[in-house]
Amino acid sequence: MALELENKVVVLTGGGDGIGAECALAYAREGAWVAIVDRNLEAAKQVAEDAGSRCFAIGADVSDGTQVASAIEKVLQTCGRIDAVHNNAGVASPSTPLHETSEAEWDQLFRVNVKSVYWTTRFALPALMQSKGTILNTASMVGLIGQADHAAYVATKGSLISLTKAMAVDYAPHSIRVNAICPAAVWTPMLERWCGEQPDPTATRQLLDTIHLLGPSPRGDVIADVAIFLLSERSRFMTGCILPVSGGAELGYRRLNQE
Ligand code: ADP
Repeated sequence: MALELENKVVVLTGGGDGIGAECALAYAREGAWVAIVDRNLEAAKQVAEDAGSRCFAIGADVSDGTQVASAIEKVLQTCGRIDAVHNNAGVASPSTPLHETSEAEWDQLFRVNVKSVYWTTRFALPALMQSKGTILNTASMVGLIGQADHAAYVATKGSLISLTKAMAVDYAPHSIRVNAICPAAVWTPMLERWCGEQPDPTATRQLLDTIHLLGPSPRGDVIADVAIFLLSERSRFMTGCILPVSGGAELGYRRLNQE
């Protein structure tokens, strides 16, 4: 069977952990060369080792333009081209209403979750124009429907959604597709950390396992499967799409007689 991403060069930010790590392994399995760009170089190296010889790690903070520029340069020196950029690095916020969110917290969330996309696009665009490549942004279901006490984080994910649409319009003339994926609760170290910060972590974990209509919170592989599709030729007529991969969580209504 043909591999979905055979010989594609994918730049994946935040591939050192969680959803990104699952994507790195999946992209490599589908024949891609994967450059993991993560501020946690050790974690990224470990994932790269697990993914095999087509995957390599670059240490960089995606909120810093100089570091992103040099990461993209390294990928081009190593691989000679870039076919896809998956903007996946992100940080979550503690539970705080907007008026209690510090300016530093607000700025940091936007720098990592949103401004990073500006940086990767600025520096990878010439290569993506040559390859007629694709961009994929990891947004979140909360960017579509909101979440109590997380206004700043929700705003970053909502921004990614509107940014995805704006970029899709701007870059379609260059045959560059731009899409976003919206996970709900996925069991990752980030979610585990967040649960641990809640007043009752066990109850929070149990509650999260009930929000998806299709069953308990999945692992990142369910996101990686859809991400492969969005980076591959199979989605060649899709751009500006905001795809929930959420087990229907955002639909709200459940059967009341479910056990
Ligand atoms: P998720 O639930 O989104 O998968 P994780 O915390 O498990 O979240 O993974 C997020 C990844 O993004 C981690 O590997 C983390 O090191 C990376 N990351 C977070 N902030 C930055 C940053 N500023 N620059 C580069 N990578 C980052």
